[in-house]
Amino acid sequence: MRQKIVAGNWKMNKTLEEANILASEVSGMVADEVRGNAKVIFCVPFPYLTAIKGVLGNNSRIALGAQNCSEHEWGAYTGEVSAPMLKSLGIPYVILGHSERRQFFGEDAKLLAKKTDVALKHGLTPIFCCGEPLEVREANQHEALVTKQVEEALFHLDAASLEKVVIAYEPVWAIGTGKTASAQQAQDMHAVIRKHLASKYGQAVADKIIILYGGSVNAANAKELFACPDVDGGLVGGASLKSRDFTEVIKGAN
Ligand code: PEP
Repeated sequence: MRQKIVAGNWKMNKTLEEANILASEVSGMVADEVRGNAKVIFCVPFPYLTAIKGVLGNNSRIALGAQNCSEHEWGAYTGEVSAPMLKSLGIPYVILGHSERRQFFGEDAKLLAKKTDVALKHGLTPIFCCGEPLEVREANQHEALVTKQVEEALFHLDAASLEKVVIAYEPVWAIGTGKTASAQQAQDMHAVIRKHLASKYGQAVADKIIILYGGSVNAANAKELFACPDVDGGLVGGASLKSRDFTEVIKGAN
């Protein structure tokens, strides 16, 4: 039985005051009967990590994540934030390879393999994102591209390390567009990813890997998506910015 996860990706949104309010509202709403066995994660902007940690206090139902980290550990890399820094703040998760990082900051497989290594080295759990743009889906090349993204960034890991990675399948055409993949499209791709993992690591390891779906998940579609056998929860952008919407999405994993 894999752990269900619902992770909110706040991206570059909210003032500190707004962020504190959102965290405290969701924290108040996410009782055990709401989240069931699901793990809830807030992936918040770097400067708010400590403040939000304070807001959550000893609420063990919600964990924190960053949205990126450097491939370097320390040194003269002005403006960067490293995995050991996140570790020292007590942050357990980090999103890596979000499509916006790939698109706007030129992140490629080689870089993401390094970021994954440095995150794992410092005990962080990477939430590794993959997913195809619309033209690739329309050319029916989505399975080839996504398996390649996974392979190039993760297949250098040994099985024990791979098991520490959470994968998020996020079709680029569904991110922030209001156009969600159907439950069948999500399930199909998750099964393809799992099969690809099994081809390298064996079925027993592949069956342990948590694979999240991301792309316009909302209160209305979360339950159907999260009920798919290979969908272990979601990475949620827009709907994570409103406490009521996010709480409804969390309920979908229960
Ligand atoms: C995301 O940012 O990872 C995402 C899936 O966004 P949205 O839910 O808004 O599509």
